[in-house]
Amino acid sequence: MNDINLSGAPDTSAELTVCLSFDFDALSAWVADSQNPADISRGEFAAVAVPRVLDLLDRHNTKSTFFIPGHTALAYPNQVLDIQSRGHEIGHHGWAHEPAADFDDDTQREIFAKGFDALEKVTGTRPVGYRSPGGSYNATTIDILKESGFLYDSHFSASDFHPYYLREGDKWSATDEYSFGTTIDLVEMPFAWHMDDYVHFEFYGGFSTTLNPPSTVREVWQGEFDWAYRHEAGGVVVICMHPEVIGRGSRLAMLDSLISHMAAHPGVRFERMRDYAENWRKQNSVETWLASSSPLVPRPFTAG
Ligand SMILES: [Zn+2]
Repeated sequence: MNDINLSGAPDTSAELTVCLSFDFDALSAWVADSQNPADISRGEFAAVAVPRVLDLLDRHNTKSTFFIPGHTALAYPNQVLDIQSRGHEIGHHGWAHEPAADFDDDTQREIFAKGFDALEKVTGTRPVGYRSPGGSYNATTIDILKESGFLYDSHFSASDFHPYYLREGDKWSATDEYSFGTTIDLVEMPFAWHMDDYVHFEFYGGFSTTLNPPSTVREVWQGEFDWAYRHEAGGVVVICMHPEVIGRGSRLAMLDSLISHMAAHPGVRFERMRDYAENWRKQNSVETWLASSSPLVPRPFTAG
């Protein structure tokens, strides 16, 4: 028996939350860099994998978050609507999986708008969460996230099991001391590369060339979960996956078994990222958080 919350109502007895997240990149991850149809087919496998992933989530009665580029929403609207109708959250993930910071400010804004337009056209709703393709950010990206009214972002790594607030206006160089900017009302749901299936499982020259067995990835992910369960009450474990990666048989079997392991722990619940972020923000306003003892709150040096 486990304590998975099926109602969607806040469960105050929860000791640890797990946010399973899926980046439905599909074709979008390949269209800018490759004219090879065999490469494209690697993304196309997502169309096969999404129904498998959704069935697995249904079997465990878990709700999750899918970050979807606008390009994918238009290519696979039926899968996107299936994701939505089965109660999962849909987040913004660029237009065609562009590294946002590679573009000038105006183009970056156009990319965000194009992603919004496609998601709204297919789902009729506007996302409140963002994960940058490839973890690419610059100061303009933060400005756009703020201007667009996002509740949360999920590709920063200053924390592991607890959200925090992002800053704008940090300045750094190798010659001057670090200058912290202003904390803004944008919740960060922590991300880490070792919690991302792509780097463990996919061959991609110049980016990721290790092909790990599912048992290795389970050791890493379960190890993080087990540690957080013992030491980080109230926290959240975020796992980042891709249907076209995790949706292969041996990997999906590992995920199935791992979810069972996690769900067997009393007080563990599975949530959409927006639900956890909303709740955390309610309990931790920017002012409250800035007054907390978090090591991530910038503090001036005081001698003596
Ligand atoms: Zn992606």
